[in-house]
Amino acid sequence: MLIVSACLVGVNCKYDGGNNSHPELVELYRKGEIIPVCPEQLGGLSTPRAPAEIRGGDGEDVWEGKARLITPRGEDVTEAFKRGAREALNLARHAGAERAIFKEKSPSCGPYFIYDGTFSGQLVAGKGVAAELFLREGLKVNSENDFKRKG
Ligand code: SF4
Repeated sequence: MLIVSACLVGVNCKYDGGNNSHPELVELYRKGEIIPVCPEQLGGLSTPRAPAEIRGGDGEDVWEGKARLITPRGEDVTEAFKRGAREALNLARHAGAERAIFKEKSPSCGPYFIYDGTFSGQLVAGKGVAAELFLREGLKVNSENDFKRKG
């Protein structure tokens, strides 16, 4: 069983109320091979919601207390992101899942890249909060771009 970012299988859970539907992952979902999770919704955030970016580092720095999740208006939503990541991990554990396919560039899900915290569209290497937690807990994490290659 695979844990997959819910927006990748067509759930309208993105901050703007949309999704990131990925045809091959939707197909796997229809076959019953995927459990969709949205860490930001699991953390109690509403949809739509303000976008957030990690200021001061990446998901690793968030768990170490060195970086925070901030919205464009300066609201600190770090605790909701951490709560949602823990709940997503709980779900994975209950399902016996060992692998996640997470949406690239998300401050929660991004496995390899995130935005730099300035809301300028600039990407930097780094992991989202949930991706980092899953890796720390020994799960494999891929993105929608490399899940077949690293199958
Ligand atoms: Fe998609 Fe993850 Fe963002 Fe939820 S938190 S909308 S699953 S990328």
